[in-house]
Amino acid sequence: MTAVGLDHLGKVFDDGTVAVNDLSLDIADGELVVLLGPSGCGKSTVLRLVAGLEAPTTGHVRFGGQIVDRLPTRDRNVAMVFQHYALYPHLTVAQNIGFPLRSAPGVAELVANAAARLGLTDVLDRRPAQLSGGERQLVAMARALVRQPRVFLLDEPLAHLDAGLRAELRGEVAATARRVGVTTLYVTHDQAEALSVADRVAVLRDGVLQQVGTPAEVYDDPATVFVAAFLGTPR
Ligand code: ADP
Ligand code: MG
Repeated sequence: MTAVGLDHLGKVFDDGTVAVNDLSLDIADGELVVLLGPSGCGKSTVLRLVAGLEAPTTGHVRFGGQIVDRLPTRDRNVAMVFQHYALYPHLTVAQNIGFPLRSAPGVAELVANAAARLGLTDVLDRRPAQLSGGERQLVAMARALVRQPRVFLLDEPLAHLDAGLRAELRGEVAATARRVGVTTLYVTHDQAEALSVADRVAVLRDGVLQQVGTPAEVYDDPATVFVAAFLGTPR
């Protein structure tokens, strides 16, 4: 079953910048697809189109079988995590994770579950200043997942962390998304990160999709010279 479909999606900004150009991609239920490409290639714009934060110039976004172009962000049930997540400094980890739920019934249990999934059970009473950078990012992810979103969108979630932590956390992120079974679109410009977390990698250049395939397929059998060069170049 297709969870998220992009049909000939295009985005041209008012200043004439073509950020996304005729992009078609189907993401299966529970699949983790990584959008990989250099800075400025349109990755964040694709996420914003899926979230409904931008409207497509051409084409459509589908959730399930349904075109959602007119559906506002708040009704799309997507969760987004950015590089520069903002936790509430005066709230505990538990309060941060539970914040999107306000005072819905069963908050404590939902928070406990989300925290357990991300290994945060022991730090629930701390405040963000008492956490490492990696732990803070995990709290941001727990907060995003606590509402059980239909689609999980991650925009360079590890880009601000040092290399060691990044390598450690990418396994954590992928394992969490799989355990939760949530359909995930994960953006990065880091080749190693993409290859290690993805079910499938979608390589983007100047708004144009170059290739979609499993990590082994894009690495071993690149479709274009660009894909070969980009995947072959350590950052
Ligand atoms: P990435 O996330 O891959 O770095 P973006 O999706 O942020 O790329 O940007 C793709 C292109 O669109 C870039 O050339 C960027 O400068 C441009 N762009 C992004 N947002 C806007 C905007 N609001 N107005 C005009 N151009 C934009
Ligand atoms: Mg970006």
